Amino acid sequence: MGGRSEVTERPDGPVRRCVGCGREREKGALLRVVRGKDGTVGIDVTGKAPGRGAYLCAAAGSGANAGGGADVGCVRAAAKKNSLSRSFRSHVDRDIYEKLSEIL
Ligand SMILES: [Zn+2]
Repeated sequence: MGGRSEVTERPDGPVRRCVGCGREREKGALLRVVRGKDGTVGIDVTGKAPGRGAYLCAAAGSGANAGGGADVGCVRAAAKKNSLSRSFRSHVDRDIYEKLSEIL
């Protein structure tokens, strides 16, 4: 547990890095994916769920609060690199990536 997460603060607000495309964006343009204590991985619609988080670009036209899914391109890139497993430092089922893009 613990460990410092690398957070980049900019004058215009906090930014996070998308685990798919690697771009840094404002939090509002990203979806937070969270892995809970029970190992369940899903989109954290509140942005405050406990657990280890990772970020993916939100699909065009939807923000973190719009209830939309993640950008398909970023989900695919993340799946290719297995980025979520690396972010969460534990195995993530491949079907979670399909789930993330299906929400679109
Ligand atoms: Zn992205």
